Amino acid sequence: MNAQVARADEPRTLLVKVFGKDRPGLTTGLFTTLAGYGVDVVDFEQVVIRGRIVLVALVTAPPAEGELRATVHQWADARKLQAEVISGSGDNRPRGEGRSHVTVLGNPLTAAALAALTARITEAGGNIDRVFRLAKYPVTAVELNVSGVLTEELRAALAPEAAAQRVDVAVVASGLQRRAKRLVVMDVDSTLIQDEVIELFAAHAGCEEKVAEVTAAAMRGELDFAESLRARVALLEGLDASVVEKVRAEVRLTPGARTLIRTLKRLGYQVAIVSGGFTQVTDDLVERLGLDFAAANTLEVVDGKFTGRVVGEIVDRAGKARMLRRFAAEAGVPLEQTVAIGDGANDLDMLNTAGLGVAFNAKPVVREAAHTAVNVPFLDTVLYLLGITRDEVEEVV
Ligand SMILES: [Mg+2]
Repeated sequence: MNAQVARADEPRTLLVKVFGKDRPGLTTGLFTTLAGYGVDVVDFEQVVIRGRIVLVALVTAPPAEGELRATVHQWADARKLQAEVISGSGDNRPRGEGRSHVTVLGNPLTAAALAALTARITEAGGNIDRVFRLAKYPVTAVELNVSGVLTEELRAALAPEAAAQRVDVAVVASGLQRRAKRLVVMDVDSTLIQDEVIELFAAHAGCEEKVAEVTAAAMRGELDFAESLRARVALLEGLDASVVEKVRAEVRLTPGARTLIRTLKRLGYQVAIVSGGFTQVTDDLVERLGLDFAAANTLEVVDGKFTGRVVGEIVDRAGKARMLRRFAAEAGVPLEQTVAIGDGANDLDMLNTAGLGVAFNAKPVVREAAHTAVNVPFLDTVLYLLGITRDEVEEVV
């Protein structure tokens, strides 16, 4: 992609490319052939896709350059491989300022989507240095390493195109923090679990419709979260607290939730939940899933019945962001190494406080304001946004 400019002060180098059917011993065979000329290896990359190998080596040019060229071709011809030896000088061009990892998730991942996204990268001044597949299941995920454009600018350039192409794209600055220990904080209702816990309680209290009305009013912006929570909890007054066990059993984890948490824990991440829902349910999730931190509201119980009130300070939109900061401080993880995942308007402050905010199957207002969005219903796809491959996920069983 980049013009190689020969410079007098740089040593001559040879780019050796081999393509063909993969089989054991090819890499050894090529380097044994090159070793006969005493060359040094400057760079070396190899990829195998569906049984075909592409092997590219940049080596110093020996005095007997013509002879090396002929020997490489002979070696390749004998194995029905295509070979090319290109003369030049020096190493790869230095990578531009600004390095990012761009993860693209598609289900399916279309050629049209990749054409559009890569065009935006080029227009933004970026160069694609490397591409590889992270996963083929449950979605196709590829990672592009891009240099030459600031991460924020690249994110802004790609977000509208991702929406137009119906793929999910995450742009994360490359650097050491990507490999460092991190903290992942998740919303619960409609993120970690498929349900809205207040609705599960309401069904037992026979007030589902009234609760739904209040929820709708809150969504129209007629009530703030704390008001709407108090109004909905008031409808549970008198309900026997023994329904907690039933509601715990009714909660359905989001597909991929266990895989996400198990993988993060084995890789040394800390995992937290923050919920505008209730500790009566989140305590159980913490225990079942082995989570590190949790914050939620507590339904007040007196004489075995819900009073229709919550105890203490309410975890609302601002409260969720505050909890993220608190957990990060307790875990000893800088905020830029935190990841927040949520679907609702009350997650927005938390998503924007985190180093990476992921809108998970979120409402458009949340999707547009977050750093990145996942629009497939599998929570484990968040792992790919962190650069974790499916192979790594499966090693962690
Ligand atoms: Mg939610």
